[in-house]
Amino acid sequence: MANVVEVKVGLHCDDCIKKILKAIKKMEDIETYNVDTELNKVIVTGNVTTEEVIRVLQKMGKNAIAWEDDETDK
Ligand SMILES: [Zn+2]
Repeated sequence: MANVVEVKVGLHCDDCIKKILKAIKKMEDIETYNVDTELNKVIVTGNVTTEEVIRVLQKMGKNAIAWEDDETDK
C-alpha cells in the first residue's frame, strides 16, 4: 500500500515549485505528487517515507518539515 507523505516547505514562487516538483519526480517508487501553494504543502504518495521526501528537499536547500510536526497553523 502506498504511503501518503505530507511535507511543509516554502513554495513562494514558480521557480521554487518547478525545482521541487522536478526533484520529487526523480524519486524512486513514487506514484503521485502534488503541491498546495496556499498551504505550502507537498503531498507525495508511493513507497516513500516522510524522511526521504524531506531529505530530497533539504538537499536543495529548502527548509522542509513533516506536516504533522507543524503546530503553527492548527
Ligand atoms: Zn522561490
